[in-house]
Amino acid sequence: MPFDLIAGSVPAFVLVIFTFGLLIGSFVNVVVYRLPVMMQRDWKIQAREILEIDPDKADQDPFNLAFPNSRCPHCEHEIRPWENIPILSWLALRGKCSSCKSPISKRYPLVELACGLLSAYVAFHFGFGWQTAGMLVLTWGLLAMSLIDADHQLLPDSLVLPLLWLGLIVNNYGLFTDLQSALWGAFAGYLSLWSVYWVFKLLTGKEGMGYGDFKLLAMLGAWGGWQILPLTILLSSLVGAVLGVIMLRMRNAETSTPIPFGPYLAVAGWIALLWGDQITGAYLQFARF
Ligand SMILES: [Zn+2]
Repeated sequence: MPFDLIAGSVPAFVLVIFTFGLLIGSFVNVVVYRLPVMMQRDWKIQAREILEIDPDKADQDPFNLAFPNSRCPHCEHEIRPWENIPILSWLALRGKCSSCKSPISKRYPLVELACGLLSAYVAFHFGFGWQTAGMLVLTWGLLAMSLIDADHQLLPDSLVLPLLWLGLIVNNYGLFTDLQSALWGAFAGYLSLWSVYWVFKLLTGKEGMGYGDFKLLAMLGAWGGWQILPLTILLSSLVGAVLGVIMLRMRNAETSTPIPFGPYLAVAGWIALLWGDQITGAYLQFARF
C-alpha cells in the first residue's frame, strides 16, 4: 500500500509533501498575480456603478483564478501544460517564453521552490497528521499574502478572513492551542496593532500600517493563541528592521517608499507557531542569569 508507506516513512512523506508544495507554489504564483487584478476590477466596476458611469466593456470579460488560461504577457502565447511544470519547465525553457523568447521572471520558479521547501519543512516538523495539514494551508496562505502585500501594499480580506475562521475552527479541536487561547489571540492580535496604529497616528499624523495588518495578526493569534503574540510582534520588528536596512542599502535609500509590514508579520508568526515555545524557553533560561 503506497499510503502506508507515505504515512510510515518520514523521508517518503516529506518528499511527497515537497512535490505537492511545488505544485501549490505554482498556484500561489497565479493567486499572487490575479487576485489583486480581480480586486481592482471589482472596485472599478463598483465605483462606476456608484458614480453612474456606464460599465467598461473590458471589465465584463470573465477573469478569475481559473480563467482565462495563462499567457505570455509579451506575445500572448498560451502557456501549454508541459510549460507549466514547477521549476522544471522554467529550467527547460532556460527562463524564456517558448514563442517570443522574452525572459520569464526568476521569481516564478523561486516561489515554487520556496513553497516546496516550506511545505517539506512543515511535514518534517509535525510528521504525518492533522497538524501538518493545518499548518500547510496556513503556510500557503501566508506565502500568497506576503507576496501580494509586498507587491501592492494590500492584504486581501478574501485570504486573511477565511484563514482567521479556519484557525478558530482547527483549535476548536485543540490542533495548535485551546479554543479559548485562540479566541483571545484573535481579539488581542487585532486590538494590539489597532492601538499602536492610533497612538502612532495621533502622535505623528502618519499611518504606520494598515487595517490588513491588524487582521493578519488576529489571524495568527487565532492559529497560535494569544501566547504567540508578544514573540510575533517582537520578531516582526526585528525581521523588519534587518530587511528594511538591507533594502534601503540596495535601493539607495528611497526612504519614502512604504515598506509593507505584512510579510514581516507573516514570517514572524510562522516562526512563532513552529518554535515559539523553544524560543521563549531559551530566552527565559538566558534571562535568569
Ligand atoms: Zn512570449
